[in-house]
Amino acid sequence: MNQNQPIFILPEGYSRTIGRDAQRVNILAAKQVAETVRTTLGPKGMDKMIVDSTGNIIVTNDGVTILQEMGIEHPIAKMLVEVAKTQEDQVGDGTTTAVVLAGELLKNAEILLDKNIHPTVITKGYRLAAEYSQKIIESIAERITENDVEILKKIATTAMTGKGAETAKDLLSNLVVKAVLQILEKHDNKIIIDTDNVKLEKKTGDGIQDSELISGLVLDKERVHTDMPLRVKNARIALINSAIEIRNTETDAKIQITSPNQLQEFLYQEEKMLRDMTEKIINSGANVVFCQKGIDDIAQHYFAKKGVYACRRIKKSDMDKLAKATNAKIITNLDDLNPEDLGKAGLIESVKFDDEEMTYVRECENPKAVTILIRGSTEHVIDEVERAVKDAIGDVVASLKNGKVVGGAGAAEIEISKKLKEFSTSLSGREQLAVQSFADALEIIPKTLAENAGLDPIDMLTELKAQHEFNKWAGIDVFEGRIKDAFKSGVIEPLKIKTQAIKSASEVAELILRIDDVIAGSSRDNSPNIPQTNPDMDA
Ligand code: ADP
Ligand code: MG
Repeated sequence: MNQNQPIFILPEGYSRTIGRDAQRVNILAAKQVAETVRTTLGPKGMDKMIVDSTGNIIVTNDGVTILQEMGIEHPIAKMLVEVAKTQEDQVGDGTTTAVVLAGELLKNAEILLDKNIHPTVITKGYRLAAEYSQKIIESIAERITENDVEILKKIATTAMTGKGAETAKDLLSNLVVKAVLQILEKHDNKIIIDTDNVKLEKKTGDGIQDSELISGLVLDKERVHTDMPLRVKNARIALINSAIEIRNTETDAKIQITSPNQLQEFLYQEEKMLRDMTEKIINSGANVVFCQKGIDDIAQHYFAKKGVYACRRIKKSDMDKLAKATNAKIITNLDDLNPEDLGKAGLIESVKFDDEEMTYVRECENPKAVTILIRGSTEHVIDEVERAVKDAIGDVVASLKNGKVVGGAGAAEIEISKKLKEFSTSLSGREQLAVQSFADALEIIPKTLAENAGLDPIDMLTELKAQHEFNKWAGIDVFEGRIKDAFKSGVIEPLKIKTQAIKSASEVAELILRIDDVIAGSSRDNSPNIPQTNPDMDA
């Protein structure tokens, strides 16, 4: 038998890339993803405009948003998108950092592969380095508590610097910190924050500076009857999650009416029942009614006549927030409604935007749900401000929960890098190289911050490293183009951003490095693209 006869173990149409080729292609794909978001990193990062197939436009600086909206198909590239998503879920910020770091770890790994260092040696070194990095950063982090309001504001500002929210970042960081501290709860000295209780409501018109914090809720609902008051002071609020109607649309009842009198009687009965329902509510002392279901026309009329403000078809999630904000109990059966079930708010008012009416529930006493109303001139502006505000909320919450923060502007990364290099000298030759590569990769963050600000990355990095000999929070001041104490100048980030970014970046790098064989089905063409040239034309 011919020994050289090829044996086909895969079905026709399957493609297979093996060994170094597979690694090269995979690393290239990952680097491309990192390269895509790299230019957006930091206060001086640029934005991306993404136009999807339906013509929707998004202008953003947010790593995870860019990657999600790009509709990336390549399987390895998708793994990097997952890194960004994990970062978003776990912290809510630092998505670009995580992806850029993963790309750089792979880039440096490739240099080692070219030196014939086996992937398992590299992954082992990376694992060691990642674990040791966590220890380093834990030990250099600073402690904060919910009383460090000024630091919390700086954390919020750092998250928003360079985003669409830039122009009003002081106002917005104030709102974010106030909102988070308002809904913070403590059980057995453990801080509990449910970010769902900070509702973000958006409304176009006016400028970002007109954004405000409402100690309560903003509901996208109007009064059900125009005769109802526009404002109710000292509101006593009934939250009802059953319909204030008679006709039950879920059951089919048939009544036979044989005479006009009977019809009259029937209508009278119906009206009486509705009046009874409204009276039960009004008698409890309520002057505001928020109903999760419908409110019959006749009931609306009675409410209006008694000066009660009522809204219907409120979302379940908003009902829950209303309960938290006004300290009310949600009632299903009107017979159970007691005065103590009512919620309180200093003011309920109807506010008109263009031709849309919204209901503000304001001045709640110690509300456990609040709203940040984001204003801005256009929808694109508001959407980007919302993403920035979400990042800021994520960072403030992460800082409070974990109680530890670090200096940004590249300070944390360079300090870890420095200490990792010191640690690497205790290791054997090849592992030492891998740990050093990991340490070098961390430099990509300050390097990119400098590059994106139009500064010379080599000068900046040299000076930065020199200052780290005596200041762990030395960072790049991208506005003035020099090295400054990041912590003192208020560039502060939660520890969690860094620990999570390092963790997921190194994990995905290890995962990708361990792949040495890509077998792709015929439906998916993963073979490297060979540009088709037309011999008749000059290239
Ligand atoms: P990410 O998606 O990773 O959060 P960002 O575009 O928000 O990306 O950039 C975050 C980086 O910008 C962090 O390294 C942070 O320390 C840095 N940064 C934020 N504000 C400043 C500032 N005022 N000066 C220098 N660096 C800053
Ligand atoms: Mg950020």
